[in-house]
Amino acid sequence: MPEILEVESYRQLADRVVGAVITRGWADAYLAKKLTSPAAWARTVKGHRVTGTARRGKLMLLETDGPTLAMRFGMTGVLLLDGDAGIEGLFYGPHDFDAKWLRGGLEFDDGRKLVVHDPRRLARVEINPDLNELGPDALSLTRKQFDDLLRVDRGEGPAVKARLLDQSRVAGVGNLLGDEMLFRAGIDPRTPVGTLSTDERTRLFASFRRTMSTLQRRGGSHLGDHMDARFPGGLCPRDGGTMLLATVGGRTTYWCSLHQR
Ligand SMILES: [Zn+2]
Repeated sequence: MPEILEVESYRQLADRVVGAVITRGWADAYLAKKLTSPAAWARTVKGHRVTGTARRGKLMLLETDGPTLAMRFGMTGVLLLDGDAGIEGLFYGPHDFDAKWLRGGLEFDDGRKLVVHDPRRLARVEINPDLNELGPDALSLTRKQFDDLLRVDRGEGPAVKARLLDQSRVAGVGNLLGDEMLFRAGIDPRTPVGTLSTDERTRLFASFRRTMSTLQRRGGSHLGDHMDARFPGGLCPRDGGTMLLATVGGRTTYWCSLHQR
């Protein structure tokens, strides 16, 4: 699944079309599902020059001299520029390239094409998206923003894993990144946010930042230290403890029975 680090690589790929003018846009009914119609995409994008790119969490933004265009990549979406994948590795996953999975995209005055390849049909395009629905971006999260993220108004609050995945609190932490930062911080993902000690909060913030930067350098959200043990019966690569498995925050969660308490 494309998480924030993968989408950041798509953004860097899209940066190559800054300055080009969109001559044609197309989208199938799936990609255009959040718009009034596929024709709305074609009509809206045509003739605009791309002026820049941005990203908020897993939402990629193409700024133009007209509307802001946005793309979400769902479970299996990949952005391609004239056939170059933003992340080559995604094509070593369960899906290979097939032209029938091209859902739509943009064509430019210099002949290049930026297209979305998506077997599962969950990728979406948007026009002038509402960014107020999203929390601050996970790749540049400050300590102040992190403290806001963990704040609880009453009671003990939700499980810390659920809070990390809440895109309205912080944009871009997916399931694998959430598990990896808790693994590195030595915190049980089920711990209610409001019961985290000062020491645990400090450890989690350091782990949050280090997880993002380390996995970006390694090349993807799926390259965390706990990944080799991410199966039922897996053993912790750090201390040999049995890895536990449960649904936390609506997602399949793995953690170590020994060092994550
Ligand atoms: Zn362990």
